[in-house]
Amino acid sequence: MKIRMTAAALLLAAGAAQAGEPVWDANKVELKAQKLADGVYAMVPADAARAADGVPIATTSGILAGSKGVLVVDTMINERLHKQVMAEAKRHGALRYAVNTSYHGDHSYGNYFLPKSVTVIQHAAAKAYVDTNFAKDVQFMEGAFGKGRGIDKIKPRTGDVLVAKDSRVQLDLGGKVVEIIDFGFGQTGGDLVVWDPQARVAFTGNPVIAGQPSLPWLLDGHVQDTLDTLTRIYNFLPADARIVPGHGPVMGKEAMKWHLDYLAALKAAVQDAHAKGMTLEQAQAHADLAAFKGYAIYDWVHKGINIPAAYAEFRK
Ligand SMILES: [Zn+2]
Repeated sequence: MKIRMTAAALLLAAGAAQAGEPVWDANKVELKAQKLADGVYAMVPADAARAADGVPIATTSGILAGSKGVLVVDTMINERLHKQVMAEAKRHGALRYAVNTSYHGDHSYGNYFLPKSVTVIQHAAAKAYVDTNFAKDVQFMEGAFGKGRGIDKIKPRTGDVLVAKDSRVQLDLGGKVVEIIDFGFGQTGGDLVVWDPQARVAFTGNPVIAGQPSLPWLLDGHVQDTLDTLTRIYNFLPADARIVPGHGPVMGKEAMKWHLDYLAALKAAVQDAHAKGMTLEQAQAHADLAAFKGYAIYDWVHKGINIPAAYAEFRK
């Protein structure tokens, strides 16, 4: 199944935001570099700590540097934020690679501004999406994140190296080997995790949006697949791993449990609603998970996106 969220819905999702304003403003966000280990940096929005209060945060990025060059994780939504990442990356060596954790524009539109010499790495499914949906995607993103953010300037640049379904790519950056892994459907079916086994840092993109109280956005459905994939990532990571999520501050592995528990609770509540013969509207009231409230866009993401996705999926 496929859920099409409208731009208007995303604008409305901004519970605390002004009417007509995006959930975060790509013209205002400031990224700060956070050193996690030698040659490993998270680029995190300056206000990322507000994620703990349930505020939706702008996109994170990452920088991994070895003696042979630099890899950037996610290229941002517009030129302004892209340049902030590039300015930091330049301090650590010559940029050789850029990885997109998904096709979502806030993680991949900045590919357009990369020098031709940089090798772009994407999931094959991410490239396939961009190849057929780019114009529609830009229109949607501009609707959701506002005009005047430079989104209309973007032209597609897709992967030079494509990661196939269920596979992984290893890159030697010189004294730093990085793995780019498809753990399965995380949010789009073209999701990649960038893993530094030495530093024990994982850049996950949107499948782990932020810590509690944020919730997964099951925009393309696949509740069970998402639960399975997040469980695989959780089991893969060592106990002391650090996670740079798609939209929040650096977190520990155990903070992922919130998402696993939420998805399991969502599934159980919706299956129970089916067992009782409920309509979708009744299921939305029945599966009101009080224990998982706190995200500013809870109603939009849980009731508007996730319950309908689960309702369709667990119908049988
Ligand atoms: Zn994102």
